[in-house]
Amino acid sequence: MRDEVVERDLAIFRRAQKRLRDVFEFGTTGRDIQAVAELNALLENFPVQPRISGHDANDWHMHVTSRGASVSAEYIAGAVWGLSVWLCEFGSARFGVCADERCGNVYLDTSSNCCRRFCSERCATRSHVAAHRARKKEKLLASVM
Ligand SMILES: [Zn+2]
Ligand SMILES: [Zn+2]
Repeated sequence: MRDEVVERDLAIFRRAQKRLRDVFEFGTTGRDIQAVAELNALLENFPVQPRISGHDANDWHMHVTSRGASVSAEYIAGAVWGLSVWLCEFGSARFGVCADERCGNVYLDTSSNCCRRFCSERCATRSHVAAHRARKKEKLLASVM
């Protein structure tokens, strides 16, 4: 699809990125109804029209938009459909925003007890190290005062 992407797709991707992010913000802050409303609006804006496609004769695979749809329409329709299925299956509380404020990535919480707070191991480690250092510094300050 690299050869088909055009400037206009970028603007559409950026706007959709913001709206998809809102879905995660709503979910992670318990605003279930808003998450559903935003996904429904996105489903309307980026409708799914499944189709089997083969770029070479025997690599059949699914596309989610009709022939001739833009690259952004194809990608975003897939993302919105995937998130909507996820929400119905597991609930919007499974949408998360990384607790490391320097990161800001979003994630889907697949943990067994819905307790994930970071987008990755890397952010979790970095944040725990920072908290540990802060506690150590506090102790040190308390001991000299
Ligand atoms: Zn394809
Ligand atoms: Zn992160």
